[in-house]
Amino acid sequence: MKFYSLNKQSPAVDFKEATIRGLAPDKGLYFPEYIPLFTKELLESIDRVDNATIAYEVIREYAADVIPPEDLGRIAKEAIDFEIPLVQVDDNISSLELFHGPTLAFKDVGARFMSRCLGYFAKERNQKVVVLVATSGDTGGAVANGFYNVDGVEVVILYPSGKVSSVQEKQLTTLGNNIHALEVKGNFDDCQPMVKEAFADKELNERLFLTSANSINIARWLPQQFYYLLAWKQWEDKSNPPVIAVPSGNFGNICAGIMAYKSGMPVKHFIAACNANDTVPEFFRTGKYEAKKAVPTISNAMDVGDPSNFIRIQKIFSDDITDMKKMISSCSISDEETRNILKKVFEEKRYLMDTHGAVAYLALQRYLENNPGSKGIFLETAHPVKFYDVVEPIIGQQVPIPELVQQQLKKEKSAVLMNAESNLLKEYLLHS
Ligand SMILES: *Cc1c(COP(=O)(O)O)cnc(C)c1O
Repeated sequence: MKFYSLNKQSPAVDFKEATIRGLAPDKGLYFPEYIPLFTKELLESIDRVDNATIAYEVIREYAADVIPPEDLGRIAKEAIDFEIPLVQVDDNISSLELFHGPTLAFKDVGARFMSRCLGYFAKERNQKVVVLVATSGDTGGAVANGFYNVDGVEVVILYPSGKVSSVQEKQLTTLGNNIHALEVKGNFDDCQPMVKEAFADKELNERLFLTSANSINIARWLPQQFYYLLAWKQWEDKSNPPVIAVPSGNFGNICAGIMAYKSGMPVKHFIAACNANDTVPEFFRTGKYEAKKAVPTISNAMDVGDPSNFIRIQKIFSDDITDMKKMISSCSISDEETRNILKKVFEEKRYLMDTHGAVAYLALQRYLENNPGSKGIFLETAHPVKFYDVVEPIIGQQVPIPELVQQQLKKEKSAVLMNAESNLLKEYLLHS
């Protein structure tokens, strides 16, 4: 499979090149030259296919020309080797729980898959890969954990000192081994230019195999299809496919779901559920895409004003908004509505959502009210404990801390404190 740049100014490359580069040289996102179809056997007998085989089948045609079946199978299996249950919350609403991975968020799946691909490519090249990322919190944890103990890969993570939650900081700074945390004296906007300059630095790039673990990377984006198929596997009423609501920020997750649909997985409709950051809902309303400045909300992993992956969705529908609207709806949910629905579902259904899942739940509930006879799934993208500071006041009680997090909190932090200066980062990369 070849992947071409959506800016059309760079040559098409294979899965390996596209994964290593992240972004094409012309700054475009990579997109597969065609969307493969799942086999009839997979779709018709999915109830009886084991999860690892499903994952392998989903990714096979994209990557099999550069990773042999045995290795690709192992990588796909490891990306989803935790529970991904579909839990019924209401008569017509189920929750796809994507928070049982090591950092309690759906990003674990993509991060684990990509890390293992890069590890594989590094081994082939006989060169150490250095993954360099700046994080404002969540992504860093998933990336760090995904790469932990992957042979041939060193990870350097920059995070703003004092600006990430205590749980997040522990996830970044307690792993050790090949994971190195740099605590930058400044905020996230001070970390990003340091990383950008490192990627632009000629000497650094000659000496090291530097790469980012950006969320637009195809090796993070495409494996997110896995759990849509796992939802379909667990969906009981196969004659009435689900409406799927996805809490959306950068639109990578929902875009993966749409790829699975285009590859043949039955879906009735998609809902892109947004918080107050309503660039896409507005696009659906007016037909004009206007990037906005992100505004802070209580579902902050979705505080994105110019979602990078939306261009891929437009591509899938050949830029035809009429076609797109038949399959996707989008709406914006306020913080107040998010709080109210989270509390209501907890009190009436005894089901505790996080703020991101709550946005999707409400969007789905509204859609189903107007489309009787349909049933739906919302993606619960994080464990509520990750946002305990917001969730606990809403429900008026403590969120039980999972065993995994309790262990993390007990561990000793280890980070290098650094001023926000690019030359210091360069020194560090060259000499440690
Ligand atoms: C990243 C994230 C999202 C948004 O996912 P996108 O793929 O960026 O749309 C939603 N919920 C949580 C908890 C996240 O961490």
